[in-house]
Amino acid sequence: MAIREIRKIGDPILSKTSKQVNKFDEKLHILLDDMHETLKENDGVGLAAVQVGILKRVFIVVFEDDVTEAVNPEIISAEGEQTAKEGCLSVPGEWYDVMRPEKVTIRAYDRYGNEFTKTGEGIVARAFCHEYDHLDGILFVEKKTEAEAETIAAEELGKIDEE
Ligand code: ZN
Repeated sequence: MAIREIRKIGDPILSKTSKQVNKFDEKLHILLDDMHETLKENDGVGLAAVQVGILKRVFIVVFEDDVTEAVNPEIISAEGEQTAKEGCLSVPGEWYDVMRPEKVTIRAYDRYGNEFTKTGEGIVARAFCHEYDHLDGILFVEKKTEAEAETIAAEELGKIDEE
Protein backbone atom coordinates (compact mmCIF):
# COMPACT_ATOMS: atom_id res chain seq x y z
CA MET A 1 0.00 0.00 0.00
CA ALA A 2 1.08 3.55 -0.53
CA ILE A 3 -0.02 7.00 0.46
CA ARG A 4 -0.99 8.97 -2.62
CA GLU A 5 -0.84 12.71 -3.14
CA ILE A 6 -4.17 14.49 -2.63
CA ARG A 7 -5.11 16.89 -5.41
CA LYS A 8 -6.08 20.32 -4.12
CA ILE A 9 -8.65 22.90 -5.22
CA GLY A 10 -7.44 24.67 -8.37
CA ASP A 11 -6.26 21.38 -9.89
CA PRO A 12 -8.37 21.01 -13.06
CA ILE A 13 -8.81 17.25 -12.56
CA LEU A 14 -11.17 17.93 -9.63
CA SER A 15 -13.78 19.42 -11.94
CA LYS A 16 -13.74 16.47 -14.38
CA THR A 17 -16.34 13.71 -14.52
CA SER A 18 -15.00 10.31 -13.48
CA LYS A 19 -15.51 7.23 -15.67
CA GLN A 20 -17.31 3.98 -14.92
CA VAL A 21 -15.12 1.10 -13.76
CA ASN A 22 -15.25 -1.96 -16.04
CA LYS A 23 -12.50 -4.11 -14.56
CA PHE A 24 -12.62 -5.25 -10.95
CA ASP A 25 -8.99 -6.26 -11.04
CA GLU A 26 -5.83 -6.04 -8.97
CA LYS A 27 -5.28 -2.46 -10.14
CA LEU A 28 -8.64 -1.45 -8.63
CA HIS A 29 -7.80 -3.25 -5.39
CA ILE A 30 -4.46 -1.46 -5.12
CA LEU A 31 -6.21 1.86 -5.76
CA LEU A 32 -8.74 1.15 -2.99
CA ASP A 33 -6.03 0.00 -0.57
CA ASP A 34 -4.00 3.13 -1.29
CA MET A 35 -7.10 5.30 -0.83
CA HIS A 36 -7.67 3.78 2.61
CA GLU A 37 -4.10 4.45 3.62
CA THR A 38 -4.26 8.01 2.26
CA LEU A 39 -7.56 8.71 4.03
CA LYS A 40 -6.23 7.40 7.34
CA GLU A 41 -3.02 9.39 7.04
CA ASN A 42 -5.02 12.58 6.43
CA ASP A 43 -7.61 11.86 9.12
CA GLY A 44 -10.59 12.16 6.76
CA VAL A 45 -14.02 10.52 6.55
CA GLY A 46 -14.22 10.05 2.80
CA LEU A 47 -12.10 10.06 -0.33
CA ALA A 48 -12.91 9.83 -4.03
CA ALA A 49 -10.46 8.37 -6.56
CA VAL A 50 -10.31 11.67 -8.45
CA GLN A 51 -8.79 13.23 -5.33
CA VAL A 52 -5.73 11.07 -5.85
CA GLY A 53 -5.75 11.83 -9.58
CA ILE A 54 -7.64 8.78 -10.84
CA LEU A 55 -10.78 9.55 -12.87
CA LYS A 56 -12.71 6.43 -11.88
CA ARG A 57 -16.12 6.26 -10.21
CA VAL A 58 -14.79 4.98 -6.90
CA PHE A 59 -15.07 6.37 -3.38
CA ILE A 60 -14.56 5.22 0.17
CA VAL A 61 -16.22 6.40 3.37
CA VAL A 62 -14.85 5.38 6.76
CA PHE A 63 -16.64 6.55 9.87
CA GLU A 64 -15.67 4.76 13.07
CA ASP A 65 -16.25 1.02 12.34
CA ASP A 66 -18.44 1.71 9.32
CA VAL A 67 -16.41 1.17 6.14
CA THR A 68 -17.87 1.64 2.64
CA GLU A 69 -16.08 0.98 -0.64
CA ALA A 70 -18.29 2.08 -3.51
CA VAL A 71 -17.53 1.43 -7.18
CA ASN A 72 -19.84 2.91 -9.83
CA PRO A 73 -22.19 4.19 -7.09
CA GLU A 74 -25.64 5.65 -7.64
CA ILE A 75 -27.72 7.47 -5.07
CA ILE A 76 -31.07 5.67 -5.22
CA SER A 77 -32.91 7.45 -2.43
CA ALA A 78 -32.50 10.40 -0.11
CA GLU A 79 -34.67 11.53 2.79
CA GLY A 80 -34.80 14.46 5.17
CA GLU A 81 -32.22 17.19 5.48
CA GLN A 82 -29.34 18.24 7.69
CA THR A 83 -27.06 21.25 7.67
CA ALA A 84 -23.62 21.02 9.17
CA LYS A 85 -20.08 22.20 8.67
CA GLU A 86 -18.41 20.25 5.91
CA GLY A 87 -14.80 20.04 4.86
CA CYS A 88 -12.76 18.30 2.15
CA LEU A 89 -9.21 17.00 2.00
CA SER A 90 -8.90 18.77 -1.36
CA VAL A 91 -9.89 22.11 0.20
CA PRO A 92 -7.71 22.19 3.32
CA GLY A 93 -8.67 24.42 6.23
CA GLU A 94 -12.06 25.48 4.87
CA TRP A 95 -15.35 24.48 6.48
CA TYR A 96 -18.77 25.62 5.31
CA ASP A 97 -22.36 24.86 6.20
CA VAL A 98 -23.79 22.55 3.55
CA MET A 99 -27.32 21.16 3.43
CA ARG A 100 -27.50 17.43 2.71
CA PRO A 101 -30.12 14.69 3.09
CA GLU A 102 -30.24 13.04 6.54
CA LYS A 103 -30.52 9.53 5.13
CA VAL A 104 -29.09 8.32 1.83
CA THR A 105 -29.18 4.94 0.12
CA ILE A 106 -26.58 4.05 -2.50
CA ARG A 107 -26.38 1.18 -4.92
CA ALA A 108 -22.83 0.32 -5.88
CA TYR A 109 -20.39 -2.50 -6.58
CA ASP A 110 -17.76 -3.78 -4.19
CA ARG A 111 -14.14 -4.31 -5.25
CA TYR A 112 -15.00 -7.78 -6.61
CA GLY A 113 -17.89 -6.56 -8.75
CA ASN A 114 -20.74 -7.64 -6.44
CA GLU A 115 -23.67 -5.24 -6.38
CA PHE A 116 -24.91 -4.01 -3.00
CA THR A 117 -27.12 -1.34 -1.52
CA LYS A 118 -26.32 0.52 1.68
CA THR A 119 -28.10 3.18 3.69
CA GLY A 120 -26.15 5.80 5.58
CA GLU A 121 -27.44 8.35 8.07
CA GLY A 122 -26.00 11.54 9.50
CA ILE A 123 -22.28 11.91 8.80
CA VAL A 124 -22.24 8.82 6.58
CA ALA A 125 -25.14 10.16 4.46
CA ARG A 126 -23.33 13.49 4.21
CA ALA A 127 -20.13 11.74 3.14
CA PHE A 128 -21.93 9.61 0.51
CA CYS A 129 -23.28 12.81 -1.09
CA HIS A 130 -19.98 14.67 -0.80
CA GLU A 131 -17.97 11.84 -2.37
CA TYR A 132 -20.59 11.19 -5.04
CA ASP A 133 -20.34 14.86 -6.05
CA HIS A 134 -16.58 14.44 -6.56
CA LEU A 135 -17.30 11.80 -9.22
CA ASP A 136 -19.21 14.43 -11.17
CA GLY A 137 -16.53 17.07 -10.70
CA ILE A 138 -18.39 19.00 -8.01
CA LEU A 139 -16.64 20.41 -4.94
CA PHE A 140 -18.55 21.07 -1.71
CA VAL A 141 -17.64 24.76 -1.84
CA GLU A 142 -20.19 25.02 -4.67
CA LYS A 143 -22.88 23.76 -2.25
CA LYS A 144 -22.51 26.24 0.59
CA THR A 145 -25.84 27.23 2.06
CA GLU A 146 -27.35 30.27 0.41
CA ALA A 147 -27.13 32.28 3.60
CA GLU A 148 -23.46 31.57 3.95
CA ALA A 149 -22.81 32.28 0.28
CA GLU A 150 -24.59 35.63 0.61
CA THR A 151 -22.56 36.55 3.67
CA ILE A 152 -19.35 35.71 1.86
CA ALA A 153 -20.43 37.63 -1.23
CA ALA A 154 -21.36 40.63 0.90
CA GLU A 155 -18.02 40.51 2.69
CA GLU A 156 -16.23 40.39 -0.63
CA LEU A 157 -18.12 43.44 -1.80
CA GLY A 158 -17.51 45.25 1.47
CA LYS A 159 -21.24 45.65 2.01
CA ILE A 160 -21.32 44.34 5.54
CA ASP A 161 -19.41 47.30 6.94
CA GLU A 162 -21.81 49.75 5.33
CA GLU A 163 -24.89 48.32 7.00
ZN1 ZN B 1 -14.04 16.10 -0.75
